[in-house]
This record gives sequence, C-alpha cells and structure tokens, in this order.
Amino acid sequence: MSTQMSKDVSCPKCSAAVRTKMWPGICTQDSPELRMRVLDETFFDWKCPECGYEARFLYPCLYHDRDRKFMVYLAPNDKAGEFQPVDVSEKFPQLAGVKKRVVSTPAELKEKILIFEAGLNDYAVELVKAALASVIEEKAGCKTVQGYFCCADEEANRITFTFFLEGENSPVLRRTSMDAYRKSLEIAGSLRTPEGNCFVPVDSVTALNLFADYRNSKKKA
Ligand SMILES: [Zn+2]
Repeated sequence: MSTQMSKDVSCPKCSAAVRTKMWPGICTQDSPELRMRVLDETFFDWKCPECGYEARFLYPCLYHDRDRKFMVYLAPNDKAGEFQPVDVSEKFPQLAGVKKRVVSTPAELKEKILIFEAGLNDYAVELVKAALASVIEEKAGCKTVQGYFCCADEEANRITFTFFLEGENSPVLRRTSMDAYRKSLEIAGSLRTPEGNCFVPVDSVTALNLFADYRNSKKKA
C-alpha cells in the first residue's frame, strides 16, 4: 500500500507555508502514477503556489514493487555507502526473498527501478558500468562523475549507460554487448554478495570491491 502524508513546507523564496503532499511509501501496484513520476524524474518536484518558486523537495521514501519483488529505500541525507544495513527479517519476515537496496539520490532510485524491471542483476550491471567508466577515463583522460544504466536489449545484444564526465554538462552514452553483462554476472555469482534481509547499497564502491575480491580469488586459485 502506498502511504501519503501532508506537511507544511516553508517556501525558501517567499516564506509562505505550503501544504505539501508527500509519499513516504510507494507501492507500484497500487499507484502506477507514482512509478511514472519517479521514472520521469518529477516525483520530488515542488512549486510554491504563492510566488511560483520551483525546487526539488527530497525526503526519505520506500519504493516497493511487489510483483517484481524489490524494494529501494531512498535515504537522501545519507551517503548510501555510509548507510548502516538494517536487518528487517525479524520485523518483516514476509520480506524474505525481496531484493532490498538503499540509494541516496532520485537518479539512483530510478536506475534501480530500470535495472530490476529489465530483470537484470544490479551487481553485474555495476561491474559493467565500472569497466566502461575505466575505459572512458583511459581514452578521454577525464574522470566520470556519475554513470547510470539506461536500457538493455538482448536481441540487439547491447546494454547502454549514460555517463557524466568531470567538467562536462551533457552526458555521453556508452554501450557494450550483453556478453559483457553475462561475464559480469558470472563474476558476481562466483563471489559472495551480501543479500539476506538487509537493505544494502549496490553501487560503484560495491563494484570496485567485487573486482578486488575477484582478483584475489584468481590469485588464490
Ligand atoms: Zn513562494
């Protein structure tokens, strides 16, 4: 079930108290329109009816797709990497078998939804993304600041990402073959990835750790 609440938010420009609707819990099956707003990146848009000031109003929010069995918790004030995993198995045994992720930005929330809706493994997607980012950094000689999964096409055998490069405003698209994804899936599968009943971040830091574990496991073998 989606949960809604209202709160008075003070306009940063004209200080008017604006009654603002918030959705701390989004259930896609009950509220497909909320899913659409997350995907078109308007979910956190906020506008003052008094002076017209527009801003993004972020708050913690739990996104749940019952059919596809995943939950993503947006914790905007935490860096997801510093998030302390919370074991929810005792309180919510019904959540066993549900993928649980924590992210810190709406863009990361959208990315997780796209990955899981495409039926992909997000550990493997992060590995492909990290590999592509290092190719870009080598070739273009500039750092990638952010990278996001866009789409995957089995028939065309490609997986597409957007990257934001340091000092550049517009993102660049990068593709690689789904073979790279399948290889990454093998790597992710050969290592212990922390699933279980905790909300965990799975991001670029996770990918670097996985690569390091993988190299170590090869050394030992
Ligand atoms: Zn205002």
